[in-house]
Amino acid sequence: MNVETFVTDKAGLVKFYEAIIANNETYAPVEKFGKFDFKRVLTLAECDPDSPITKTMSAKPLFFPRSAKILKYSADASGTDVKETDEDPLTGKRVILGMKHCDARGLQVLDKVYNWDYIDSDYQKRRQNSVIISSRCDKAETHCFCTSLDYDVENLDAMDVLIVHGLDGKIFIKARTEKGETFLKANPIDPASGIQHSASEEGMKKQYDAFAASFRLKMDYKNVNGKLSKIFDTPEFENVSASCIGCNTCAFICPTCHCFKISDEKIKDTGIRYKSYDSCNNGYFTLMAGGHNPRPVKYRRWRQRAMHKFVYYKERFGENLCVGCGRCAISCPVNISIFEVVNQVATTV
Ligand code: SF4
Ligand code: SF4
Repeated sequence: MNVETFVTDKAGLVKFYEAIIANNETYAPVEKFGKFDFKRVLTLAECDPDSPITKTMSAKPLFFPRSAKILKYSADASGTDVKETDEDPLTGKRVILGMKHCDARGLQVLDKVYNWDYIDSDYQKRRQNSVIISSRCDKAETHCFCTSLDYDVENLDAMDVLIVHGLDGKIFIKARTEKGETFLKANPIDPASGIQHSASEEGMKKQYDAFAASFRLKMDYKNVNGKLSKIFDTPEFENVSASCIGCNTCAFICPTCHCFKISDEKIKDTGIRYKSYDSCNNGYFTLMAGGHNPRPVKYRRWRQRAMHKFVYYKERFGENLCVGCGRCAISCPVNISIFEVVNQVATTV
């Protein structure tokens, strides 16, 4: 790729966002009760593409919906009739604005499992037809540790078009993937918008350095991977999970968790089958039809969560099943942080 860098100011960025929303099916963070969730938007006034990560839900539901109809059926004495559900609203060509880098990295991690033993064609279509355009975070928040987890601060390819708020007030716009490059060619920047070509990327580079220096939390994940793989039976898992109330919020909000359940809702002769979020922290998740449950107590479930994220997924796919976004920590009602859990357990080796 021979990619141009554009430079602008806040007014130019507003025009850039407005042109994207006017010409594309666009999803962006929309505020509701102080939090932002990704919704279809028709105007920039409805959303905030630069919403703070602390308040922004993961965009995972745009690729793996929280609860989706997978089929409809009717069943009576004459037999069973199964029908497809309505067309998937998430498979059209679309742009996603304001998806934080950790969130976009989460999709790269999920791509591995969705391209593995079963190819999830719905997920693939949603991925292929989405262009991710987003600003980088200016600085880390207290719960963030994304740079500790396979994150190359300069070479970001999780976003298709990257926006960087330079320290000098300049705003840089640059395609990071071929999809992003194609998008910018198909949606040329209007010279009247105040967005110009930039000969220098100096302002971007300085912002990368400031961003990297802003992290309070740092993890040596290779050390954690190695130590966790040796301590399956440590009693420390009981200590770290003692206050967990099993609400599953940490999994539902996580950009990489992908447990699901299948459930039927039937009234008289007709029913709908749903695929909905579930969690390995749910006591019923491993309950078998005969009544046996291999994870009947919560420390075993928390152990599975930690091991899957920092040992098993890494062994199978070469990546941690955690992108260090910290969303689970800020959402947990009893303040359990996976950063603390895996580091604390690792110290027992
Ligand atoms: S486990 Fe927590 S920190 Fe890691 S990706 Fe999921 S929500 Fe983010
Ligand atoms: S959000 Fe907290 S309390 Fe709820 S399941 Fe996760 S760790 Fe347990």
